[in-house]
Amino acid sequence: MKDFYVPDGVEVKTAFERTTHLAVGAHQDDLEIFAYHGIAECYESQDAWFGGVTVTNGAGSARTGKYADFTDEEMQAKRVEEQREAAKIGKYSFQAQLAYPSSDLKSAEKSEAAISELEAYFRQCKADTVYLHNPADKHDTHISLLTCCVAALRRLPEDCRPKRVYGCEVWRDLDWLSDSSKVMLPVDKYPELAEKLIEVFDSQVAGGKDYVAATIGRRNANATYFDSHSIDQSTAYTVAIDMMPLLENPELSMDAFVGELIEAFKKDACDRLTRYQKA
Ligand SMILES: [Zn+2]
Repeated sequence: MKDFYVPDGVEVKTAFERTTHLAVGAHQDDLEIFAYHGIAECYESQDAWFGGVTVTNGAGSARTGKYADFTDEEMQAKRVEEQREAAKIGKYSFQAQLAYPSSDLKSAEKSEAAISELEAYFRQCKADTVYLHNPADKHDTHISLLTCCVAALRRLPEDCRPKRVYGCEVWRDLDWLSDSSKVMLPVDKYPELAEKLIEVFDSQVAGGKDYVAATIGRRNANATYFDSHSIDQSTAYTVAIDMMPLLENPELSMDAFVGELIEAFKKDACDRLTRYQKA
């Protein structure tokens, strides 16, 4: 079931129009993992607002521990409730949950409804900054949603297009990118909020997956391991891919786009080995 929530109760139109940072993720908890940069930029800001769009219904989630007796429907309802709670804690402008089965996003025909709906969100919000899954993610649902998002963004008239589109880390980090291809998004603001926003997804964490430690740890590792010589500017980063080339060149295929990034990585790793090769 679709769900729409405005934590401070303003009119829907206002909630869309004030949104400056918009994130579109597949599952409940994805936004808090990959778009914390946007959430923190808007938290306690007067003129910046974060909008969240969660696209799938969260079906098929593992049900273990205290959730072992839940039906799949009860678990979906629990996840919707947790996502609402995150929006409240993070003071989002709005949180939409579109409830598509992930199979719809993977299908060429059935994904059209999601693409049109996403296009409407992009048009109504006209956010300057957009956060998406990254195109080298290894989760099929994340990738199928990302292809829907790029299709929707490519339909926008010039004046509705975001200025920045970031592909961010969830299932596969982006440490492998060449440093020159990395967009480093500082995420060290409000560390307690960062933790709380992942802890709130109890149905995901309680099953034995420590997403809190993993997510916060990855952000810290990104800061420490980014450059061996310089002192850390920020103590935590999300690494992102600049996705704007896909909007600027509608002919550019997503696999060619990622292929180029992988080639750059291959060259960097292989060149270093060649340089120090021994007889
Ligand atoms: Zn996900």
